Amino acid sequence: MTARPEFEPSLALVSPHAAEADREAEASVRPRRLAEFVAQHRVREQLQLLLASALRRGSPPDHILLSGAPGLGKTTLAMIVAAELGAGLRVTSGPAIERAGDLAAILTSLSAGDVLFIDEIHRIARPAEELLYSAMEDFRVDVVIGKGPGATAVPLEVEPFTLVGATTRAGLLTGPMRDRFGFVGHLDFYEPAELEQLLARSASILGVPAEPDGLAEIAARSRGTPRVANRLLRRVRDYAEVRADGVVTRETAKAALAVYDVDERGLDRLDRAVLSALVESFGGGPVGLSTLAVAVGEQPDTVEEVCEPYLVRAGLLARTPRGRVATAAAWRHLGRTPPGSILGAASAPPDLFGTRFDADGDTD
Ligand code: ADP
Repeated sequence: MTARPEFEPSLALVSPHAAEADREAEASVRPRRLAEFVAQHRVREQLQLLLASALRRGSPPDHILLSGAPGLGKTTLAMIVAAELGAGLRVTSGPAIERAGDLAAILTSLSAGDVLFIDEIHRIARPAEELLYSAMEDFRVDVVIGKGPGATAVPLEVEPFTLVGATTRAGLLTGPMRDRFGFVGHLDFYEPAELEQLLARSASILGVPAEPDGLAEIAARSRGTPRVANRLLRRVRDYAEVRADGVVTRETAKAALAVYDVDERGLDRLDRAVLSALVESFGGGPVGLSTLAVAVGEQPDTVEEVCEPYLVRAGLLARTPRGRVATAAAWRHLGRTPPGSILGAASAPPDLFGTRFDADGDTD
């Protein structure tokens, strides 16, 4: 992507994707056991039953598929599954497995009972996916040795293991793949009150003194996403330490997030630029993606992949066959009165336009 650096997904403060700088910081606040994992009660209870019964039987649980938008806790849950089972964990990702041989090497090196976590499992190469089927079902893989007519398939045993697959795009998984998971858990975006609880836990681990109001202010701007919440907490802590007395209060949170250009709904500068262009320059739309991108000086990919998923989910922007449209809520968010013509249309469900969105806000 040729996005300007300040708007690269990895650098945006409100991006749900992990930047390099997040990884170390995240490790310190990552819950290690199921009891510490905040919210997501349904998935937690289901997993708790699955793991407890596996431990009782003394055999690995069914394979587990976790779906949900980036930053909601899929990797964390995979680590928790291994910890709760007292099992070893191997971590890889769909894009890292380019050839069936890469996967065969991983599978045949697993110890009995290990947990294998494959992130972005929908992006695994097809030949590797087929190899995974027999490993998941029969704990066996056929490795092809040699090429052409002389090639022979050598069956290899795989120790019983549990696959934990994570995906942001469950709709892209093939049927046979999905069928091989005995448990499918979907993670939803978090409510502000849940994020407050999560932030209170993170603040105490990081040793950051924080008032409930200050955490509520951060939670409201975190786009329902733990990764964003924890990142904003770190930035507010910096501000509180440098410009105030170190305590995260509502005032310091507001002042800090104003410095970082994150507004009260969690929109950053580029998100607001997109909405302003739509409203101010194009009368609210509809306008084509590339025209909109030119208006904000960005690549269409950046607008589509970085800004739109959240703007759509927040009900501020609609994607229609004729182009992008600002909703009445977007006009109001910019302090403008929405024109009468969109007040009726804004309440229409996105399906009216024949467009479906998944958890990421992406079109399928
Ligand atoms: P994903 O794999 O879905 O992109 P991660 O599991 O890496 O997300 O979570 C991102 C960050 O958010 C991690 O630092 C993790 O500690 C935190 N986090 C996610 N979900 C929770 C939760 N339910 N409770 C506490 N922290 C969470």
